Amino acid sequence: GVAGLRNLGNTCFMNSVIQCISGTVPLARFFFTGSYRRHINRDNPQGTGGEIVEAFARLIRVIWEGQYNVISPVTFKDAICRRISHFGGNDQQDAQEFLAFLLDGIHEDINFLDARPRPDLEMDDEAFERLKDTTAAEIAWERYMTRHSSIIVSMMQGQLKSELQCGKCSKRSTTYSPFMFLSLPIPKKRGSCSIYACLSEFTAEETLKGENAWHCPQCKKARSSTKKLTISRLPDVLIIHLKRFSFQGPFRDKLETMVDFPTKGLELQKYLMPSLQSTLATEKYDLYAAVNHFGGLNGGHYTACVKRVFDKKWHNFDDSRVSVCEENTVRV
Ligand SMILES: [Zn+2]
Repeated sequence: GVAGLRNLGNTCFMNSVIQCISGTVPLARFFFTGSYRRHINRDNPQGTGGEIVEAFARLIRVIWEGQYNVISPVTFKDAICRRISHFGGNDQQDAQEFLAFLLDGIHEDINFLDARPRPDLEMDDEAFERLKDTTAAEIAWERYMTRHSSIIVSMMQGQLKSELQCGKCSKRSTTYSPFMFLSLPIPKKRGSCSIYACLSEFTAEETLKGENAWHCPQCKKARSSTKKLTISRLPDVLIIHLKRFSFQGPFRDKLETMVDFPTKGLELQKYLMPSLQSTLATEKYDLYAAVNHFGGLNGGHYTACVKRVFDKKWHNFDDSRVSVCEENTVRV
């Protein structure tokens, strides 16, 4: 179904995010078919006792049943506000922040916590550091999965490898952390740039010095060091967040740089950790949903473009207004 969502007072950030998740078919199907019910973990203290996942599933069902052209997501909004009150005010909020909150809320409501001990995953840092990186990444992921297991994690989370190296003694420390978003910097202040330039900037080696210097465990003091990020695991559904809003002390700024990206076949091979780059399976991503922000920092307006699976047509969702749009107008 395709339905617009009524604006309940500056809720375009919420509506745009809902439309993108509703267009994420495997996830929407999980809610629409009711299979999420078997996964609800009402005892998870990190969750909402099922309140958020149930409210969201009801909304997805109403959208997908296709009986209405416009829906007022009042019950869903109320459920969200009971958890985080600032999303309930009438102020404009950040769509990415809301998406992070929503996916995390859904995840915790259906998080299967496996309490069984996993001695096979235990080892000291030195031994971990000596592992082949593909093995280390796998172990780190397995450790994470013992505490975080849901369709959100298995479908939408990836993993980043972060390597720190002391500039003095060359001591290395490698960590593998899960991510829900690839939050990419925009390396140009104006004009346009390619999303690949953003990815290169994100994975470029960075020097940590001065206040940011790394406390080297071998030198036992803060040292000028290098830091490098690469992708050690890619999810089936990848969310890219372009960091348009910058914060410098009390000042906020929005970068209006146009970021060019392919709507089909985004290639991430180059940004994987080197041992994965040679693997045969080339990961390519097609765009099917995007949230756009128009206007300035205070206020502004969010809309979403989502490609419908049935007829492969792009739709522009501007709160309650829905229109078919061309693929080449889907701009971020
Ligand atoms: Zn050192």
